[in-house]
Amino acid sequence: MDIAVIGSNMVDLITYTNQLPKAGETLEAPDFAIGCGGKGANQAVAAAKMGGRVIMVSKVGDDLFAPNTVANLQQQGVDTRFVTTAPGTSSGVAPIFVDDQSQNRILIIKGANQQLKPADVDAAAGALKSCQLMILQLEIPLETVYYAIDFARQHDIRVILNPAPAVADLDIAYACKCDFFMPNETELEILTGMPVGSDEEIKRAGQTLLKRGLKNLIITMGARGSLWMSGDSVHQVAPTAVKAVDTSGAGDAFIGCFAQMLVKTGDIATAMTQASAYAACSVTGRGTQRAYPDADTFQRFLN
Ligand code: ATP
Repeated sequence: MDIAVIGSNMVDLITYTNQLPKAGETLEAPDFAIGCGGKGANQAVAAAKMGGRVIMVSKVGDDLFAPNTVANLQQQGVDTRFVTTAPGTSSGVAPIFVDDQSQNRILIIKGANQQLKPADVDAAAGALKSCQLMILQLEIPLETVYYAIDFARQHDIRVILNPAPAVADLDIAYACKCDFFMPNETELEILTGMPVGSDEEIKRAGQTLLKRGLKNLIITMGARGSLWMSGDSVHQVAPTAVKAVDTSGAGDAFIGCFAQMLVKTGDIATAMTQASAYAACSVTGRGTQRAYPDADTFQRFLN
């Protein structure tokens, strides 16, 4: 295995609607879909679809969603040896509302993901030690994230930390232990308390984080593209122009592809360019994982 994802899985319950009900009101929505999601699983699937050898450490609930989650990961080529059941707990679920401007509103019920503990990292230690890269997000307990970062450092595994969803009390000392810190602009705003309305403001907010000791800061900025900041250098990647249909999971597509391209090429700028195009391709389809192209489909998109 090359890439380890220690993180969440969620069941996406996606409603397509322009109108949300007020208290006491019932509305009819035009369309609905169920999808496999969760930031951890999404990133694992994106990396695997791009040809990565990916292992996931994750918790599923004690319910009817769990077998489907595990089967889906396996079908996408993710090693699920360490995806285990949390007894008496529901799976993580994410009700998502998508409007006709492709804007999404998301609720997260973490469920079993809250039961992923440092002991689960230890249980997978043998397999994790062989990985080159570990990806972490914040849909699992922070103590597990910190434990995994220390584990990775002890074993010379590079770490990508995606601080999503943003938590105000993230210990930046741990972010500094990671090789790549990858927030979106909203997460950057929450972490720094600074405005992120323009590229200049984003760079200024980014600089304040870098000054605290981050190695590589990669900010995704939706339809405005992405930015890699390290030391005094700033590398901006323009977005690939597409007609967006559903942007949910774009950041996860970006990170999964970035991870696999980094493992494959060892070059950060190349990995960013590929990740940017991959994420753009993903927003042209509905849903999260189901909209992620495999390597062949992505190649056709590029041509
Ligand atoms: P999510 O949390 O839903 O996974 P995110 O908010 O973390 O998403 P974004 O910053 O919105 O992620 O998008 C990630 C990347 O996807 C962007 O940096 C960009 O490269 C690409 N992207 C997103 N939206 C578009 C778009 N409309 N057109 C082209 N590329 C896009």
